[in-house]
Amino acid sequence: MLVNKKIVSVISLLKNIQRDYTPAALASSFSAEDMLLTDIITKHVPELNIFTLDTGRLPAETYDLMQRTHDRYGAVVEIYAPDCSVLAEYVQAQGPNAFYNSVEQRKQCCAMRKLVPLKRALSTRKAWITGLRKEQSVTRTDIQRMEWDAAHGIPKFNPLTEWTEKEVWDYIRNNDVPFNELHEQGYPSIGCAPCTRAISAKEDIRAGRWWWENPESKECGLHVRN
Ligand code: SF4
Repeated sequence: MLVNKKIVSVISLLKNIQRDYTPAALASSFSAEDMLLTDIITKHVPELNIFTLDTGRLPAETYDLMQRTHDRYGAVVEIYAPDCSVLAEYVQAQGPNAFYNSVEQRKQCCAMRKLVPLKRALSTRKAWITGLRKEQSVTRTDIQRMEWDAAHGIPKFNPLTEWTEKEVWDYIRNNDVPFNELHEQGYPSIGCAPCTRAISAKEDIRAGRWWWENPESKECGLHVRN
């Protein structure tokens, strides 16, 4: 019952975003939360856009999910990729896996493969939508349903802030929503292949992301707080 109320609330918020902020878009990384929102958007608010940042380093399982999403919902996900000449220059100068060397080099890679394409994706939008939840990590405990994203100069909406992991998975199972096979192999949070590992049941949900860094630095810069 509680989950049903939360679903109605998410649909209502998405409709309000569509009414007041068109063009607005969901930034999908094909996470369980983003697949839930993709399912709701395509069913109830198809005027909203969906885009993804294809870093070029995603796991094979994520590309498989990308294909299954296309097969299920159609060509609803717009793809944003890194600038290939900038990418080639960086890889030639620093090597393909320089992100392991330091937080700074890791953030350079995230900037080139994620932040710059994100800026391009948001340049034509009046608002963006994410699948962030408070529960996900120490860096996300105080996120709000609506925030001002000063970096991009538009509002950011997080319709799932209060959802639990169980509620997300209940929705996915009940609605037969496609999901990443890696979730069944110990990967609750999935990013690029070389920067994501499986975790044990006792670890924090995002412990497998940039696992060699401290928890406080474990964000790629996509979700900078004001
Ligand atoms: S997650 Fe890793 S491979 Fe992906 S953009 Fe960031 S540093 Fe680069």
